[in-house]
Amino acid sequence: AAALKIIANARTEGRGSLTEIEAKQVFTLYGLPVTTTILAHSEDEAAALANKVGYPVVMKIVSPEILHKSDAGGVKVNIKDEAAVRDAYRTILANAKAYNASANIHGVAVQEMAPWGTEVILGSVNDATFGPTMMFGLGGIFVEVLKDVTFRVAPVSPAQALRMLGEIRGGPILNGVRGEAPRDKAVLADTICRYANMILDLSDEISESDANPVLVYEEGKGVKVVDARIILK
Ligand code: ADP
Ligand code: MG
Repeated sequence: AAALKIIANARTEGRGSLTEIEAKQVFTLYGLPVTTTILAHSEDEAAALANKVGYPVVMKIVSPEILHKSDAGGVKVNIKDEAAVRDAYRTILANAKAYNASANIHGVAVQEMAPWGTEVILGSVNDATFGPTMMFGLGGIFVEVLKDVTFRVAPVSPAQALRMLGEIRGGPILNGVRGEAPRDKAVLADTICRYANMILDLSDEISESDANPVLVYEEGKGVKVVDARIILK
């Protein structure tokens, strides 16, 4: 019911998608581990939130018209002190205005900076025949250039999710490469199951979605969703 409220609110405003803030709220309701992300409406508020979240922080533009935030110069990572927060706030707003002068700006999200991890992508599409369908792939060039992804119709069982991790060509990367520790496949598989439950539960609402990237840590250390997108039907 809480997720439907967030979605209904976006529709009331005539929007066909959720902002990252809203999408992460929905993800959280389904037990997906997202970075703490709070909306600031002013430079002062951003500074106060950064102190609360703890440095370093990441700041991002929040606008329904800007879905690919980096393309708009709307993402700043590794911001280390208050002066840098204030600077980033102004720069992100200026970049967004230059990118799309008519974009409606909700503010700037302040979020915890997740430590480095192996980048993967979770996503969903609505298949005309099978309905809500999960996608999993490794991030970066693996998905963009090699299209190294795999699909499962929701719901996805834990055993199926583990099989998805193994069946992409880049799968062995999760076992640890160049002396790295093995990645937390158990939590990643559990995250896939939870995500699949979400798209099934909200199948009347979600047209497509993604968590890109999800950072995967070593065994026992879990995963973190750092970006979230939901497109409505
Ligand atoms: P875009 O809308 O361009 O996809 P993202 O939110 O994915 O924007 O941010 C771009 C990149 O910045 C991500 O791919 C990731 O590498 C990095 N990033 C974003 N948020 C965080 C975060 N909270 N912690 C660490 N890195 C982040
Ligand atoms: Mg992204």
